Amino acid sequence: MERVTRIINWNVSGGMLALLYAGAAAAVALSLARLYGRIRVWRRGRPGGALPSAGEAVRNLSRWVAGRGKMARDPYAAVMHDLILWGFIILFAGTTLVFLEHDTPLHFFYGTFYLVASAVIDLGGVGFLAGLAMAAYRRFLRRSARLQSSPMAGGMLALLFVIGLTGFLLEAARIGVDLPRFERASVVGYPLALLLRSLGATPEGLRASHRVLWTAHALVSIGFFAAGTAYFFRHVVVSALAVALGGRRSTGALRAYPLLDAEAAGRGGPDDLRWRDLLEADACTTCGRCTSVCPATAAGKALDPRGVVLGLADLVSRAAAGNGRAPSAFDGIPSQAIWDCTTCGACNHACPVEIQVFDKLIDLRRQLVDLGEVSPGAQTALEGLAARRNPWDYPPAQRALWRESLKLRQVGDGKAPEWIYWVGCAGAYEPSAQAILRSTAAILTAAGVDFAVLGSESCTGDPARRLGDEALFQSCRAHNLEALRASGARRIVTHCPHCLNTFRNEYWDGEGEFEVVHHSELIRQLVAAGRVALGKAREDTKVTFHDPCYLGRHNGEYDAPRAVVDAVPGMTRVEMPRSRERSFCCGGGGGQMWLESTGGRRVEGLRLEEAVATGARVIATGCPFCKIMLETAAVTAGRQDAVEVRDISEILFDALEKR
Ligand code: SF4
Ligand code: SF4
Repeated sequence: MERVTRIINWNVSGGMLALLYAGAAAAVALSLARLYGRIRVWRRGRPGGALPSAGEAVRNLSRWVAGRGKMARDPYAAVMHDLILWGFIILFAGTTLVFLEHDTPLHFFYGTFYLVASAVIDLGGVGFLAGLAMAAYRRFLRRSARLQSSPMAGGMLALLFVIGLTGFLLEAARIGVDLPRFERASVVGYPLALLLRSLGATPEGLRASHRVLWTAHALVSIGFFAAGTAYFFRHVVVSALAVALGGRRSTGALRAYPLLDAEAAGRGGPDDLRWRDLLEADACTTCGRCTSVCPATAAGKALDPRGVVLGLADLVSRAAAGNGRAPSAFDGIPSQAIWDCTTCGACNHACPVEIQVFDKLIDLRRQLVDLGEVSPGAQTALEGLAARRNPWDYPPAQRALWRESLKLRQVGDGKAPEWIYWVGCAGAYEPSAQAILRSTAAILTAAGVDFAVLGSESCTGDPARRLGDEALFQSCRAHNLEALRASGARRIVTHCPHCLNTFRNEYWDGEGEFEVVHHSELIRQLVAAGRVALGKAREDTKVTFHDPCYLGRHNGEYDAPRAVVDAVPGMTRVEMPRSRERSFCCGGGGGQMWLESTGGRRVEGLRLEEAVATGARVIATGCPFCKIMLETAAVTAGRQDAVEVRDISEILFDALEKR
C-alpha cells in the first residue's frame, strides 16, 4: 500500500543541504548582528518611561493583534496584510515541520496529518502570493499617494514573491516525477505538476529542474534571512516589540522633559532622544498614514511626519554605523518642520504600529529651545507668558475685566464653591472667546450650579510646554496648583479643551486631585437633569460640529458636545467627512496660534472649506482656539456672512428660556 508521506529533502545532496544550513546560519547571524547594533543605539537614549510588566506587554500585543494594528480602517490594506502575514506564518510553520521531521527524532509527517498539512501550506502560499500581488499593485500600479514606490521596496516585495513562487514550482517538480495520487491534497502543487507533465515535462527533466529550483529557493530564502532586520523588513520584528513595550496613555499627555542647563542641552543625537523614540523609529513601516492625515502637510508646510520618523531611523542607522562624526536628527529634519506641528495627534491615531509621532517632534522642539533656536513667534509668546502669565502678552490687569462686568463670584467670596469655572487665557482676553464664557456662566447660573472663578488664574502652561519651554510650564503649573488647592473646590469645569487636557493629563500624577470636566459634559448633564429650560423650536438651522483635537482625539469626548447641540430645538446636525477620531485640526494647537504661518495654505482654511461643503449655516465647536481659527478663516475667505462659528454653549444659551 502506498505510504502517504514524502521523502524530506528528496533529490537534495548532502553538500547542498550543508550549504543551505551554513548560509541560513550566516544570514541569521548577520541579521541579528545588525539588530544588535541598533539595540545598542536605542540603549544610548535617555530614559523613556517605565517598562511594562510581562503581563502588560502581552496584553499590549494581544490588543494590537486583535485590532489588526488599526488596519481595519483601510479594508484593502487589512486584507493585504492578513494574507501576507498569515500566509507567511503558515509557510514558515510548514518549513519548521519539515525541519522537525528531518532533523529531530520526531516523526509525524505522514498519513492524515501529512494530507491536511499539505493542503493548508499550499493555501497559505496562495494567500501569501495574493497579498504580495495586492501590495505590488497598490504601490506600483495604483500608485497610492501615501506609499513610497522606491526600488528598495520593490526589491523586497520581489524577493518575497520569488520565495513563494519557487516554493510552488519546487513542489510541482517533485510531485510531477511520479504523480502519487495522495498528493492531490497539495491543492496547488498537484495541478501545477499535471500542467507541467501535460506541457511535455519528463520525470528526468523535472528531477533536474527540481534541483535548480531547490537551489534558487534556498538562495532567496537565505537572502530574506540576511535582510530580515534591514530597511522595510525591520518593522516586522521591531514593531511588535515597540507595541509590546509601549504604554497606553492619553495622547494629549506630553511626556515630562528634564530641565537641562546649556551644557547638557540636547543636540538631536541618539543620546539626547528617548530610547523608546529610537526603537519606535525603527518600527516604522513607511506606510505614510501619518503624513496622509497631517494638517501641516496638507497645508503645504515643511512638516512630513513620516519623514521625521524615518529621519530618526536614519539617525539610528548612522549611529550604528559609527562613522566618527556625531550624528544629529537636525541634519535630516528641517527645524521648520519641527515648528509646524499643531500636536493634533492625527498621526498617532493613524499609525498602525502605535508610534507616538508628535511626541518626538515636541522633544526635538524642546531641544531647539534649549539650544536657543526658537521661532520668533514662539519667542514672543513665551516671553509674554513668562512676564504676564498669558501667551498673548496682554496686561494682567485686563484678565479680570470681563468677570467684573458679569459680576461673577470669585474664590474667596464666601464659602468654598463646588466648582471652579476655569476661564483660560483665550476666554479672559480674546473677544470671540469671551462670548463663550458669558454664555457658559449664564447657563451654569441658570442651572443653579455652585461655581466661582479663580481670581489668581494664570495660563495653565499648555502653550509653554508645546512650544518647548518645560521650565515655564512647570512654573505655571506650580502657581495654579497652589491657587487651586487653596480654593477649597474639588471640581473644575472649563470650556477650553487645552486647559482640560493639561489639568487631566499633565498636572497630577496618577489619580487627579480634582475632577475636571469640559463644559459640554457638565451642560449635557444639566440638560439631561432638566436643570436648564430650553425654549420652543426656532427656524431650522443646519449645523456641523468640528471636533477639537484636545477634546476628541486626546481626551475621547465626542458625544457630549453633540448631545448639547442636539438638545437645542430646531438644530439639524450634519457631520463633516472627517469627524470624531478622524477630525481635521483647526490649525491653532501646539502653539500655532502664535507662530508665523508658513506653507501655501492655512490649515483653518482647509477645515472651513470642509465645513462649508456640508451646507451647514453654523459651525459648532467646543474650543476657543478652534472658534478663533475658524472665524479668522471665514473672514479671510470672505464667508463670514454665509457661515457662523459658534461654541456649543452659545448655541444652547440662545435657546435658553430667559426668566
Ligand atoms: S500632531 Fe498633527 S500636525 Fe503634528 S505631525 Fe501629527 S498629524 Fe501632523
Ligand atoms: S510613523 Fe506610523 S503611520 Fe507614519 S509611516 Fe511610520 S508606520 Fe506609517
